[in-house]
Formats: sequence, structure tokens, C-alpha cells
Amino acid sequence: MKHLFSLKSLILILSVSLAYNLSYAQKLSKLKKATLQEVEGLRDEVQSMAESLWQYSETALFEHKSCNLLISKLENAGFTIEKGVADMPTAFVASYGQGQPIIGILAEYDALPGVGNAPAPEKKGRDDGITSGHGCGHNLFGAATVGSAIAIKQIMEKQNLKGTIRLYGCPAEETVIGKVYMAKAGLFDDLDAALHWHPSTETQAWNRTGNAMNNFSVEFYGISAHGAADPWNGRSALDAVELMNYGVNLMREHVEPTTRIHYVIPNAGEAPNVVPSYAKVWYYVRDITRDKVEKLYDRLLKIAEGAAMATETEFKVSLFTGVHEVLSNEPLLKEIQTNMELLGPIQFTEEEQQWAKTMQKASGKEEVGLKGEIKPLKDEIPGHRGGGSTDVAEVSYITPTSGFSATSAPFGIPWHSWQASASHGTSIGHKSAQFATKLLAITGIEMLTNEKLLEAAKSDFKERTKGEPYKCPIPQDQKPPLPDTASGN
Ligand SMILES: [Zn+2]
Repeated sequence: MKHLFSLKSLILILSVSLAYNLSYAQKLSKLKKATLQEVEGLRDEVQSMAESLWQYSETALFEHKSCNLLISKLENAGFTIEKGVADMPTAFVASYGQGQPIIGILAEYDALPGVGNAPAPEKKGRDDGITSGHGCGHNLFGAATVGSAIAIKQIMEKQNLKGTIRLYGCPAEETVIGKVYMAKAGLFDDLDAALHWHPSTETQAWNRTGNAMNNFSVEFYGISAHGAADPWNGRSALDAVELMNYGVNLMREHVEPTTRIHYVIPNAGEAPNVVPSYAKVWYYVRDITRDKVEKLYDRLLKIAEGAAMATETEFKVSLFTGVHEVLSNEPLLKEIQTNMELLGPIQFTEEEQQWAKTMQKASGKEEVGLKGEIKPLKDEIPGHRGGGSTDVAEVSYITPTSGFSATSAPFGIPWHSWQASASHGTSIGHKSAQFATKLLAITGIEMLTNEKLLEAAKSDFKERTKGEPYKCPIPQDQKPPLPDTASGN
């Protein structure tokens, strides 16, 4: 009897917990379903935002119209807006809700100079003469993140969910500035987790980590003199730039294979018969960890000092910005993958595939069309990083952060290009934004309602950062290089 009783109670306990889990799962899937319905209702709005941002194509820190458009959409939807945060007129924070958890969604909306193109599969200027373009797809990025934040807000309101959803309007990603200064201002400090995405030629959970980087210039000051009549009276600032670059190029043999150093010379003198009294060299130095970049940066500054000493010139270093490598977060990445598979691949029409193939042909690439399928989640490869750098990295060192890419352009085309700008102004780009809106919204709602997911994300974060607090790569008192003061950037 006794045995039977305990068996009965065991069955009871099991069935109660099963029912609980079932209802929890049902509730969640219901919640995701309801969230997707909200996104559906915002479809036209997301498309029109993507189109407007594409039309504006405003470059880093000039994104006034783009920023105002996104703010007005969020304001109308009931968000509270803080404008001009972190000393940048085109940065903002939009919030809805109260208390924890606080989930952040990162928006970007800056374009690139010189890559503007008509929404055509061949190289062709825009009718309105605008030469900048969304060659990185931040028009889709901005539209989808704002759309998803509004969808989440609507569900929170309808279902009385607790917590806060925050949309971060992050300007100047292309110059790797916006989030660095926002991080320095402490704007991400109270987040429980953050989400981002990026347009791309493939659809996948984002397990790339990018490179840490410093972006700085060295200005040399010499003495002018006649190049032939009295050159002995001169001290050439250009000589100092050349000597610095020579030193750096010799140093290349003595850095690790993961190191990347590149420079341009924005100022090198005015005329050969005048010994240049002023010259400037602009450098990026990158490597797979922040630590490595800082050590390399010290070595580069020593070379600058040596060049100044040898040429009897003065020098000044300006560190415009710096970032970490991106810190991944496995629980969030897996959640994104699950939701991605739930949504299924982005479906492109035969016409869109043909358009893509025409562009691939015009670009000398294999005519494979668009790749809308969802790629399987890849394991992280230790020590292997992508070439570029992003300021999303700063957020990832402050709070658990994860994201994904969604297909917005033909496979194999160059990025930051006329091809990418063109694609991002067509239905191909718009489909990417609609997909991203859905994925951000259902992942965001899961993060807001699933305590266990947040706990797992936080413990993964703690393990990766080893509990070390975030240290901003730029000096605490430095102001963002706004356009009127950014002549060196
Ligand atoms: Zn980008």
C-alpha cells in the first residue's frame, strides 16, 4: 500500500510538473506568436523607415534626419526619449516599461561616403545626386530594431509584462565612435542583456568576434623653409611621417600574424618647394584582443616619438576611438538560433534571384544568387577573428550581448560597396529588415520573460569577463569628435 501511495504521488508530481512545463511552453509560444502578429502589423512602417533612411543616406554624426525619424516613430509609439546622449546630437535612448529586466536593442543608421548607387544591379549614380550610400545596410538595421522595440512594447502593454525595453540610437558605427562614447557615459550599465543584428550576404547567428582596434592620428610640427634656397633652416614634418611609417613597416616583421596595421597620410605638405611644417598620418591598429592592441599601440607611439626626435619636430597623438573584440554569449546565441529556425529561411522571388545574378555578373562574381537559408550554429574558433571591428564590442563587455546577420544582398559581392548600397534600397534589403524585426522581437520577448535564459546569459558573461569591470579604451574626459571638430577623423 505504502509503495503504491508513493508511486501515485510520484505520478501526481510528475503530471503536475509536466502540465506546468507544458503550459509554460504554450504560454511562451503563444507570446512569440502574439509578438509576431504585432510585427506583422508594423510591416509597412518598417519598410517605410528602411526606405527613408536609405534615401537620406547620412554619414557618421550627420544622421540628423535619420535619427529624428526613428525618434518620432518611437515617441508616437509611447516610448520616453532621451535625446543627444553622450554629447552626440544624433544619439538617443528610447525606453518603455519599468524595472527589471532591462533589455537593450542596439540601432545603427549611418551611411558610408562615396558608395551611393541607384537601386539597380549595375553601377549607376542616384537620381538625386546623393553620393553616400547604405553600403553596410544600416538603413535596414535602424528600421528593424525600432520596429522590433515597438512590437515588444505593444505586447508588454497588452499582456501586462514587467520590465523595460530600451532602444539605443547609436550613431557613427562606421567610424566606430557611437557606442564607445555611449559606453563611456555609462548608458549600458544597468542592462540585463542586449541584442543587435546586421545585414549581410548570409543568415546566421553572429558568433564572430571581430578585432579590437585603436584609431589614432599623429601630427608632426616642423619648420618651413625654401626647399632649395635655405633647406637647412627647415625641419620637415613630412620627413617625420615618412620615418614613422618606415619604422612601423619594419615593425611588421615583429608582430603576430593576427596584427593588422594600416594608415593614410591626410596631410603631407602643400608644395615641393616648401619644407612642410605640418604633416599628419592616420592609423588603425587591430588585433584579436584589447590587450594585444594596447601593447601594439605603445610600440607605435614609441616609433612616433623616435621619428620626431630624429627629424627635430614636435608631435601630437590623438586617439579618436578604440574598441574591444566582441564578446560572444552562448545562451543568447543558442536562443537566437532556435528562433531563427522557428522563422525559417528568408524567401526570395525568382525575380529577386535574377536581379542578384545580374549584379553578381556585373561584379565578376559567381552567379549563385541570394542565400536566404539559415546556416547552422558554428562553434567558436578560439583565436580566429573576423577582420573588421565594431563598437558593438563595447556593449558586449558591459552586458550579455548577442546578435545575428540576415541576408540583404547577393552572395559574394564586396561589402561597403555600390553593390551593397543598391541591394539595401530594394525588396531584397526590405525582406532582410522584416526578418530581423521578427527575430529581434521574439528573442527580445524571450529575454524579457525567461528568467532562466537571462541567468544563463549572465553566468556565461561572468565566466568570459572573469568578473573584470569594463574599461573604456578612450580617456574618460575625451569628447566625441563631432563634425566641426573632427577634421582629423
Ligand atoms: Zn555595419
